Amino acid sequence: MSTIDHARSALIAGAGIGGLATASALAQRGWAVEIVEIGAAGSTAGWGLTLSGPSLRALGSLGLADRCLSAGFGMSVITNVDADDSEGRIDLPRLMGPDRPAMVGIARPELHRILLDEARRLDVVVSNGISVAAVRQETGPVRVELTDGTARVVDLLVGADGIRSVVRDLIGRPAPIRYHGQMVWRALVPRPGWATGIVTFFGAGQQCGIVPISSSGAYVFLVESKAEPDVVPDAELAGRMRDLLGPGPDRVAEIRRLVARSTSVVRRPVQTALVDAPWSRGSSVVIGDAAHAPSPQMASGAALAIEDGLVLAEELADHDDTGSALDAFVGRRRERCAVLVNTSVTIAALEQQQRHRDTHPLIASCHELMASPV
Ligand SMILES: Cc1cc2nc3c(=O)[nH]c(=O)nc-3n(C[C@H](O)[C@H](O)[C@H](O)COP(=O)(O)OP(=O)(O)OC[C@H]3O[C@@H](n4cnc5c(N)ncnc54)[C@H](O)[C@@H]3O)c2cc1C
Repeated sequence: MSTIDHARSALIAGAGIGGLATASALAQRGWAVEIVEIGAAGSTAGWGLTLSGPSLRALGSLGLADRCLSAGFGMSVITNVDADDSEGRIDLPRLMGPDRPAMVGIARPELHRILLDEARRLDVVVSNGISVAAVRQETGPVRVELTDGTARVVDLLVGADGIRSVVRDLIGRPAPIRYHGQMVWRALVPRPGWATGIVTFFGAGQQCGIVPISSSGAYVFLVESKAEPDVVPDAELAGRMRDLLGPGPDRVAEIRRLVARSTSVVRRPVQTALVDAPWSRGSSVVIGDAAHAPSPQMASGAALAIEDGLVLAEELADHDDTGSALDAFVGRRRERCAVLVNTSVTIAALEQQQRHRDTHPLIASCHELMASPV
């Protein structure tokens, strides 16, 4: 069967990492693709993101890895610093070959700009401020009613609408969203010269660290355990984050001083979700966080979402019938994604008990799994 199919059309809900990557993967194979995004144009939150080796590899399949490397900060080493200031160094595998770094830290708006530019270059239509109101599966195509009162009849509906997916519920594949007693903090700061890779500090208090995202910028992260998922007033974010960073070794004291502006700080709950049933129904499917959201500490959610888009496009090219393609897609993806989500739940529990060392083999096994071919 030809890999180019000019006849098929897809509607994607969500212009996040997974939705935009899927749009390009489908459009590269000749699909006519439209994305409806509930948020306003350019509203991507401004904190930083770590694109792991598997994320970069998947972006490389879309021809976008080098653009991300240029826009971010390439790195290949994670340094773990214990409470006694002793250091352990992990050299990450370079999945893109010896000439490219193992991973990249990048500002989220930069990644979104790269993904959006590519989707637009491939004639993907992106409409903002719109969501999906109803899904009616007919034989073959699916009829999708939108919140602006219009409707589309398409060969494929993709719910890439994140952990609170509406499409997931509309196609009858609900998934509980679980909170794991932790809040994740991120703050954009100037990059200290010594931050040339990820540096994580496992102190007596909360786990924290720094990730470079450009020659001049970095983000500080902190995992707050045994936390209420309450709202901290925006103006208090920097002060509260500094309090949680607490006294520490010299480098923690330095990053603590750098967390200066509350407008550069975000605090998000550690939540996971996993669709237990098949992720598809008829000609509709959920992908990315809508189907399988690991906790943010794993820095693997982006890789899973982009890989989903690539595998979905491959299976659709290999099957005439959308339903069979979606079955094959879920069959290829389910175990890898479930292992990541379930391991991230275990890691969150161990972190709550301050058993950081016990998390290291689990994290290593996930890196190994993710390094294996998609
Ligand atoms: C604090 C934090 C830090 C993280 N850090 C990392 C990291 O360093 N590395 C990493 O790999 N992963 C990280 N993750 C996870 C990663 O962000 C997600 O796994 C990834 O963004 C999933 O992509 P997605 O496209 O499935 O969902 P999202 O990126 O959430 O995109 C969903 C999109 O759908 C839109 N949308 C929502 N509802 C609707 C609707 N009803 N209709 C239309 N559109 C809708 C949203 O506005 C959004 O644009 C982090 C997550 C958090 C919360």
